[in-house]
Amino acid sequence: MKGQVFTVAKLHYINGVVYCVADLKGADIATLARHNDLTTKSGSAKHPAVRVRTLVRFAAGLGLLDATGDQVKTTDLGALFCAARTVDTWEMTDRQKEMLRHHLDENPQGTATLHSLSSLLRLVKGGLQGEDLVNAYASAIEKTGAWRSKVTSVGFTKFGLDYLKELGLIPGNEMLSRGATNGSGRGRSGDSEGDRKKRNPKWSRDELILALDLYLQQKQSPVAKDSKDVLELSSFLNRLGVALGVVQNEAYRNSNGVYMKLMNFRHHDPDYTQGGRVGLGRGNRDEAVVWQEFAASPARLAGVVRAIKAAVMEPSVSQTIELDEPGFVQAEEGAILTRLHRIRERSRKLIEGKKKAFRDAHGKLFCEACGFDFCDKYGATASHIIEVHHTKPLHTLEERAVTKLDDLAMLCPNCHRVVHSKKQWLTVSQVKDLIVSNVKN
Ligand SMILES: [Zn+2]
Ligand SMILES: [Zn+2]
Repeated sequence: MKGQVFTVAKLHYINGVVYCVADLKGADIATLARHNDLTTKSGSAKHPAVRVRTLVRFAAGLGLLDATGDQVKTTDLGALFCAARTVDTWEMTDRQKEMLRHHLDENPQGTATLHSLSSLLRLVKGGLQGEDLVNAYASAIEKTGAWRSKVTSVGFTKFGLDYLKELGLIPGNEMLSRGATNGSGRGRSGDSEGDRKKRNPKWSRDELILALDLYLQQKQSPVAKDSKDVLELSSFLNRLGVALGVVQNEAYRNSNGVYMKLMNFRHHDPDYTQGGRVGLGRGNRDEAVVWQEFAASPARLAGVVRAIKAAVMEPSVSQTIELDEPGFVQAEEGAILTRLHRIRERSRKLIEGKKKAFRDAHGKLFCEACGFDFCDKYGATASHIIEVHHTKPLHTLEERAVTKLDDLAMLCPNCHRVVHSKKQWLTVSQVKDLIVSNVKN
């Protein structure tokens, strides 16, 4: 049976939606999103509807809510759960924990969510820890294929362990970082021990772009470490980290780290340094690069930031796809938009639609950059071979934007790789120009 997991770090984060639905005697997602000061713990979700829907699905999976389409109702269990609440929305009482434990115990496979929790509990009780636990969990809930990277599986396992701890079902010590329980107590567990001490990965280009955007916005009146903007960016970076499979531990991009990064940017800001001040250290080399590429083009920066935020909300970005394909260089605009571009141009439906339209118009398939015709060269066997390239600039990819066939170009695999060979991707006409100027020489 397939399990279901959510990007919700703590169990009690569901309290807000559960209480709100009960107080309103039923509500739809839009209403819950409008009340995101009550329904989300941060009180200010960037994309309230998306966040609230995740929380509702999680709470429904636990048996507290009943969601049909956008309509959400309280279940009987949910009503009992609400009756056992305290004044603090974000505190789960012993009575509430007991209810959830009981429900889980009675319905271990009742929903995909309960199945995930009961599977993880069974594995922990069975003595698994560290990497073994992570792998066994992924396999028990059939996520082995879907969780492509180790950090993604570790992240979701950690969320699950935290729920079990919150419910008092397992002790509060670190299952993932302690050595395995096999007699020797050494061996592979050494890896996970190292993981805990390992520092978070260096800031990616996507993250630096988002941080630069906030830096430039707050330059005139610098934000405080615990300001809403900093906390929001911190939580968004965690969501991005999960989407890209890089979240390492609880301290990942916390408000302190985000604040320090903003201070790092001062080092590159002539407005700041002209007074002889130096900012907070140099940070890493990539900061200077991102500063150079974007600081002077606010409109483009704003477009890229909007597109990155929209892309993280796209269900398809968590689709399994190889991130590092030979010959495809990550675009200046970062990893998530690169991934979205590749997902869109690999869509079977779009590829077939484009090929048909192109055939109807030209009678055959050929590369729009170099003119190469597979059928001509190799015969009918190869007549279907051609790739599709999405020509829209990355920063104009809008949320759920529908790709039009006119946005696509037919390219042979060689020309497609040339397009993607530099971090500033080439246009199809630039590739054509390369070919022409190269012939002349
Ligand atoms: Zn070509
Ligand atoms: Zn492409």
